[in-house]
Order: sequence, then C-alpha cells, then structure tokens
Amino acid sequence: MQKLIEAYVDSHREEMIDRWRELVNLEGKADELEAMDAVVSHLLKLFAEAGVSCHLEQAHPQAAKVLVGEIGSGRPGKPVLFGGHYDTVFKKGAFGPAPFRIDEDGKAHGPGCLDMKGGIIITLYVIKALEAAGYSERPIRIVFCGDEEGGTYHFNYSAKIIRKAAEGCLCGFNMETGPINNDLCVGRKGAFNTHFSVDGVSAHSGNNFEAGRNAIVEAAHKILAIDRMTDMEKGSHMNVAIVNGGKVWSSVPDHCEVTFSGRFALNSEMERVLDEVDRLMKTTFVEGTTTHYEPPTNLLLQVYEQSDENMALWKFCEEVSRENGYGAMGHVFLGGGSDAVQMAMAGTPTLCSCGVRGEWNHTDREYAVVESLFSRTKLWCAVVQKLEQLQF
Ligand SMILES: [Zn+2]
Repeated sequence: MQKLIEAYVDSHREEMIDRWRELVNLEGKADELEAMDAVVSHLLKLFAEAGVSCHLEQAHPQAAKVLVGEIGSGRPGKPVLFGGHYDTVFKKGAFGPAPFRIDEDGKAHGPGCLDMKGGIIITLYVIKALEAAGYSERPIRIVFCGDEEGGTYHFNYSAKIIRKAAEGCLCGFNMETGPINNDLCVGRKGAFNTHFSVDGVSAHSGNNFEAGRNAIVEAAHKILAIDRMTDMEKGSHMNVAIVNGGKVWSSVPDHCEVTFSGRFALNSEMERVLDEVDRLMKTTFVEGTTTHYEPPTNLLLQVYEQSDENMALWKFCEEVSRENGYGAMGHVFLGGGSDAVQMAMAGTPTLCSCGVRGEWNHTDREYAVVESLFSRTKLWCAVVQKLEQLQF
C-alpha cells in the first residue's frame, strides 16, 4: 500500500502546495474572530470534501471554533488522532497581501506556514492518500483549534474539546512545527505564573521605626523560599520575575507586590510546588503583615510528560521512518508548551512536532522546508498503516 501512497503524494505535489498557499494566505490570530471563522470554514470544507464527517464546536462565545471530525467511524481499530491549531501569532495583514511564497532554495515563507498550517495540509493529505489507497483499519480523527497561540479562552475552553477528542484514541500526533533536524517531540515543560502582595504598616523609619511593619522584608522571606523550591534534577525551576514596593527611603514600606513563575518537567512537581506555595503564603515572617494570594487557576500549560508510552510511540515511528527510507529521527524534550499536553492528559500516547520542518516560528523569518510537506505525509501514512504492530 505504501507504494500507492507514495505515487498519490508524488502526483499531488502542486495541489498540496496550492492548498498550503490558500491556508497561509487566510491569515489571522486567535482574537480576530472573523478571520478565524474564515479559516475554520475553509478547513471544514476541505476535510468534508475528503470524506471526513466534521463539525465545529465553540466552547465560549468569544472563543475561536474548534474543528472536530472523523473518517471511518465504523472501522474496527481504535482511532488515531491528528490535531493542532489553525491560528497564528500574526495579525491579519501583518505581511502584506498574499504573503505565501516559495523561494529558490525550496523554503516556504508566510505567517504560520511552519506553525502550523503545513501540519494541517499534511493531515488532509494523509487522509486523502490513505483513502485513495483503500485503507480501512481504523478511524482517523482530527481536532484543530483556533486559539492555541495565546487565546484568552484556550486553556479553560478549547483545550477541553481537544482532550475530549483524544479520549479513547490509540495514539495522537500533534502536527506542530517540526524541528529542522527531523526530531520528534516527546515531552514539553508545563508552566504557571502568578503573584502575591503584602500589606504592612507604614511609619517614619527614624521616629516610629518599631511601629512599622515592613512589607518588603515579609515579601523577601517569601521570595527566597520560592527560589528554594527549584529542583533542577527534576526539571523544576522557579523564577521570581517582578518586585514592586516602597516609596521613599525614610519610610517603612507598607506594600509590596511580587510576580513569579515556575516551569516543570513533571506534573507531580508542579503540584508539589503549588502546595508549598500555598503553605508559604499562609506563613507570616514579619508579625503584623498580611499576605494576599490566589492560587493560579489558569495554568499556562500542564506538563506534557516524557512518558514511557510517548517514548515507545517515538521509537515505533522512527523505525517506520527508517524502514521506508525516510531517514533517522531523534527525539527532543522542549521548554515551550503545545496542545500535545491536552492529548496526553486524556491518557493518549502522543508525539508533537509532527508537521513540516523549519525554523524561526513566531518571527517574520519563519520558513518551512517544502520537501518535508511531502515526506512527512508519506511518513504518517506509513505509520498509520502499521499501527496494529504498535505495543506499549
Ligand atoms: Zn504552534
């Protein structure tokens, strides 16, 4: 079947680039709801034409819609999931009219060509090529949201739709930005940021020193305790980032505000730190001061842990890649977040960075290697066909 797939992809190169160009030229970021609507309606049409029964879900009236779909629902195997996002970090029009272009070195340029509209086109043609070759082993499910790049409603709304789509799947592939060196991503750090404030009692630092209650000193005790929560061996690091307090040198300061953040390689570590921070905020070092703290409810991202299952999935895909002559693939644990964590939190073994390869996403230098659009379509078709041999 892989020979048929390769022939299909090779004979559809121009069409794949045309679809990629259209998608990149439909620009926009998460809070430009009209632009996001245009992109997701376009995608709905493309995937429906490919035979996917799909629909749009909107978890909040101000959130960009999520495209959810499945093809082959009656097939016997567990579904395989392809997902990601269709928003970019760039506002519509930031690059001038029709920004997609391919240069003489075989690199595609344009907002989101790499992050991650190439990955969506790969998914579309994985489905089309497998269908054309008569694939019938398991359902293929898709989920693409429009607010991954910092949308206000992502973590409490759209992310939940992604989790739900991932439930019960054999495995998931997040079609994000592929590193230029052909690595696949097997885990990503999680993060939170939050702040606390301290109220003390102001007083003249000469005449009434003992009547004062120093808010900065109270905050300083807490800052050092937060700093000590870092555990580099476990991949947890705390960063006290912003401190504001005090007005004049001759007064005991009665107010201090502190913003801090943490990044984690393990969800258990994030929980440990949040518990310790909770206890710390209830502890008073300078008698007579009061600390105000609300635990973060909107975690930037939980940890996409480098689990044994993710590693087994990576090893399986890397073997399929080599067997088919598509080259060796490394694995990488990244510091920045993605929606792979949503898939993994649903209990589905997941790989990230499965889309087109390139560099410099989130900048105007962003580019993608055009050839990787075709090679990764072939790779994921080969992987999907072999999934019954996947063992965890
Ligand atoms: Zn992305």
